[in-house]
Amino acid sequence: MAATATPGAQAPPAPVGPGDLSGEGSRGLPDARSEPKQLPELIRIKRDGGRLSEADIRGFVDAVVNGRAQGAQIGAMLMAVRLQGMDLEETSALTRALAESGQQLEWPKAWRQQLVDKHSTGGVGDKVSLVLAPALAACGCKVPMISGRGLAHTGGTLDKLESVPGFNVIQSPEQMQALLEQVGCCIVGQSKKLVPGDGILYAARDVTATVDSLPLITASILSKKVVEGLSALVVDVKFGEAAVFPNQEQARELARALVGVGAGLGLRVAAALTAMDKPLGHNVGHALEVEEALLCMDGAGPSDLRDLVTKLGGALLWLSGQAQTQAEGTARVAAALDDGSARGRFEQMLAGQGVDPGLARALCSGSPAQRRQLLPRAQEQEELLSPADGERRRSPPVPGPGPGPAPPRPAQRPLPAGTVELIHAMPLALVLHELGAGRSRAGDALRLGVGAELLVDVGQRLRRGTPWLRVHRDGPPLSGPQRRALQEALVLSDRAPFAAPSPYAELVLPPTGAQQ
Ligand code: URA
Repeated sequence: MAATATPGAQAPPAPVGPGDLSGEGSRGLPDARSEPKQLPELIRIKRDGGRLSEADIRGFVDAVVNGRAQGAQIGAMLMAVRLQGMDLEETSALTRALAESGQQLEWPKAWRQQLVDKHSTGGVGDKVSLVLAPALAACGCKVPMISGRGLAHTGGTLDKLESVPGFNVIQSPEQMQALLEQVGCCIVGQSKKLVPGDGILYAARDVTATVDSLPLITASILSKKVVEGLSALVVDVKFGEAAVFPNQEQARELARALVGVGAGLGLRVAAALTAMDKPLGHNVGHALEVEEALLCMDGAGPSDLRDLVTKLGGALLWLSGQAQTQAEGTARVAAALDDGSARGRFEQMLAGQGVDPGLARALCSGSPAQRRQLLPRAQEQEELLSPADGERRRSPPVPGPGPGPAPPRPAQRPLPAGTVELIHAMPLALVLHELGAGRSRAGDALRLGVGAELLVDVGQRLRRGTPWLRVHRDGPPLSGPQRRALQEALVLSDRAPFAAPSPYAELVLPPTGAQQ
């Protein structure tokens, strides 16, 4: 069983047991034949609930990377895995095969303890990596972060960074080493050299409804991290209605898989379970999220974002033996935000990864209004108002079709303004996806200025008719269904105002033996 810890706990983590990562359990035995199988046969085995051997999985990944697998075959295999699952050994084999599809990164021995990284399973408004990598660098870490693009309704760190003109996510291993030496961090994408297998499967999953697969997520995340040669990794496993796995128990299962498979591959992984029902912070959308990340690096910005950055960073400093406790690590990361050193590293990272140094400087030292002028902007802004007196907080049910006159509508009871109980992240993400912030086909260009700003906080009292959301869009005005979906994302209650809870829930720790 994996151990969990409340923030700041220092008890030694208990060992993690192997688990069955398949939805319904696998059938069949490993195939002992040494003859490589053809792709249709491999797909058939998984489709029918069988188990793939290490050689089968290597054969599939090899065909993907060498271009022998057709798109349809890749999609079919991904769907078979999504529906039938994979056990722990299959998942480990897939992770290894993806990691070995490219080059292993090697660093100076003196860096061993300092090498750390963080990854997220994907959320809405999740710009933690943009802040955390430079903050950790400012704390003396080396962060060779291999990150991802948007997946399904969630945004991707690489896409966000590409909203900074000139930022280049493709860096060779030699360039990464130079960045780690000079800056302490870099944020890069897969390439022909770096985990190319995951690059291809990741893009295919995004457009084949196969993102929400426990073994595929585990292998995708860990393959990128295994090649980084880390001392410790923290994965932010989201749960809640806008997470890939809404249910906390399922998210915990994913957390245990990440920790367990990581341990089997010699990687010390901890997984933080964090809530993803409302967007993280106030801004959603690529350029808008870069703006908010900078605000966090000014020592300001929304408290939920700062809370997650500092706690995840604190966990990494503790796990890698660079802080005595998680709380000490958290305080050090907070100090790096408050004294401007994280922002200084971010500026150096931008310049080191292709951004004009003058622009990097202006972005990092400018006011929020000046920053907005320097990043891509959408053509139009449209504000939504909180429901006015007499308006219902939820649309009345639409009478079903049928003969005879429509039944009378229930009387409209005037509702006063209320306390913001929740802002549902999912409808917001789906509307922004439609407006061009997400992809429907692999390789689609994104509208980097499209996004939304929450003008209110959860727990806050909201007066009737007050703007609560500002949508940044390039196209025509929001359609009726889009407006309705957005208005229904705002949930008001009659409660007294309250302090919004932290999204950080628990930490699943690695086995004791995997600790340094
Ligand atoms: N991040 C990844 O790299 N892969 C996933 O599958 C999900 C999040």
